[in-house]
Amino acid sequence: MEPFGNVHRVFASEDRHLLIRAILLGFVTCLGIAGAGAFASPLPNAADPGGVAARPVVVGAKLEQTASGTRLTLVSSQPLSATPFALEKPDRLVLDLPEVNFQLPAHTGETGAGVIKSFRFGLFGFGRSRIVIDLSAPAHVASVVNTPLLKDLGTTVTIEFERLDREAFHELAGVSRAFAPSPQPAGSAAEATPVPAPAKDARPLVVIDPGHGGFDPGAMGGNGEVEKTITLEFATTLAAELERRGHVRVALTRNSDTFVSLPDRVRFARDQNAALFVSIHADTLTSSANVQGATVYTLADHASDADAARVAEKENRVDQQAGLDSGENDEEVVSILDDLMRRETKILSVAFAQKLVQALDAHVRLNKNPLRSAAFLVLRAPDVPSALVELGYLSSDADRASLASVQWREETARAIASAIEARLPDRPAAAAAAQAN
Ligand SMILES: [Zn+2]
Repeated sequence: MEPFGNVHRVFASEDRHLLIRAILLGFVTCLGIAGAGAFASPLPNAADPGGVAARPVVVGAKLEQTASGTRLTLVSSQPLSATPFALEKPDRLVLDLPEVNFQLPAHTGETGAGVIKSFRFGLFGFGRSRIVIDLSAPAHVASVVNTPLLKDLGTTVTIEFERLDREAFHELAGVSRAFAPSPQPAGSAAEATPVPAPAKDARPLVVIDPGHGGFDPGAMGGNGEVEKTITLEFATTLAAELERRGHVRVALTRNSDTFVSLPDRVRFARDQNAALFVSIHADTLTSSANVQGATVYTLADHASDADAARVAEKENRVDQQAGLDSGENDEEVVSILDDLMRRETKILSVAFAQKLVQALDAHVRLNKNPLRSAAFLVLRAPDVPSALVELGYLSSDADRASLASVQWREETARAIASAIEARLPDRPAAAAAAQAN
């Protein structure tokens, strides 16, 4: 099952120490399982005082079916604590970890074995990481065992999964919901972003939301473009432009390559009493290859058209991939919705979106139908006017070229900044009107 010859093929040109370690660990990639090439980089020496402090580095992941179940073995520079919990619909097991530096080859986790269909991993908020496991059959984590390797060579973390019947898994998911660590990332939006200016600063706060992040890359372009990087770069440019003008305060829902859940992005804007919320994206629409240009979206229960519905469905899927049980957050938001407030917010959101389209029109290639609406979870704040801007589509050559251009980004940021400033004076009046009723 594990052709030893692969070691030599995979590691022939690698660092000699790595090869020795690979052989010592007996940790040979079986092609087709957990991706090709288990080691992406040499194990850092945990005892090396010159090394990066404390953060474990995981350099190997092997998934295999055993006689008694399914086994995931990680090779880590240090022992790892893993707290599992279960989620249903679809069936998933989530392992909460301390912050881990995953140095694993591309495509790791895409191929399953045993009860595991696939798995994803990455940073999950500040100081925490997570492995989300998609199950092909109900299962639980039977054990997590850290085995130290010779002296400072690292640790193997062996996680054994066993099948459960449906009823037992359902129960486990129920217990997980009640007792497991909160599915909300501990260090999400509120802690992971800069503290807004002191209260005496009366300027309105604009929250800019760079889409995706952490183990959620968002869309991918044909030339290696990654949406989470594009959105963060653009959000930073836009924030700088707004700060330069000086009329508003600015906060970002994330300012690094970190995962922040959709409800946490909304919560952050609400907690900070934001005057406006602008979510930045750049997706692909594989089913509509000729779709191009910037599009501005607002929230609606019923999508304005089929493409808008598809975009919203893709953006909302993020939390499911991160192992979040988003259904409950939804209800929580709905239950506190005040009808009047929501109506006011909707009017302001649509007015803001119209202004955005108008401002972008002078500088940017717009989608043929640039103002659309759909049920985006990230636009659900009942009291913060919100819009989502798809800067362009990574599936379009013309849009990719635009997104790669610094000049285009700066021009577009100026246009959006103008639209933001144009809409803000309406905010206090509308809020007062809503309260008076
Ligand atoms: Zn997106």
